[in-house]
Amino acid sequence: MDKHLIYLHYSVAHELAHGLLLEHLGFRTGAGSADEPTALWEHMADVVAIMYKHWAARNSTSASDWVVADKIFKATHVSAACRGSRDMKNPGTAWAYIHPTKGLISDKAAAHISQLAGSEPLTYYNMSTIPSRAFAEAVDLSGQPSYGLMGEIWWRTIMGLQKDKDSSINFKGFAKKTMETAQEYKTDNTIKQAWAKVGISIL
Ligand SMILES: [Zn+2]
Repeated sequence: MDKHLIYLHYSVAHELAHGLLLEHLGFRTGAGSADEPTALWEHMADVVAIMYKHWAARNSTSASDWVVADKIFKATHVSAACRGSRDMKNPGTAWAYIHPTKGLISDKAAAHISQLAGSEPLTYYNMSTIPSRAFAEAVDLSGQPSYGLMGEIWWRTIMGLQKDKDSSINFKGFAKKTMETAQEYKTDNTIKQAWAKVGISIL
C-alpha cells in the first residue's frame, strides 16, 4: 500500500471492514471477478468507511461528503476534477484527468443498474457504487447521518447474512434483506424508494 494511504483513517476502516466481512461472510477477495457478490463486498466496506468518515467529521461541514479515499491522488494531481476514488452519492464523477498516452480518462463508476448492460464490462469497484448510491439516497431520505438509522439498518443486514448461504447474494437479494431489516424500524418505504433510484425495484 502506498505510504500516504496508511494514514488515512477511512481507508483503514475500509480495509478492516473487508477483513471482517471476509471472516463473517467468506466473500471472495474479488481477484478479477466482476460480479454482484464481489461488488457488494466492496460496497459494504465503503459503507463502513463512509460511516467512519462522517462520524469523524461530525462537527464539520464535510459530514455530507460522500467521496471515498479523497487523498488517493497525489497532491500534484488533486484538482476540482479529481476528488477521490469514488463518490457514493454521485458515482462516475469522482475523478478525470489527462493521461500522458491514453488522453482523457475518467471515473466509470455506475450510478444505475442499467449501466451493467453497457458494452464495456465494469470492474467490481465500478459496480459497487450502485448499492452505495442506494445507501446514500436512503441516508438523505432519512434525514439522519449515515451512521444513524440507515447505517444501523445496513450493518444489521450485513451481520445477518450467513456464510455459505449468502456468500453469492446479488444486488436485488441484498436490497430485499435491507428492506426486511427496515420493516422492524417501519422505514421500509424509504429503503424501497432509495433502491428504486438506482433501478432496483423490490416488491
Ligand atoms: Zn475495497
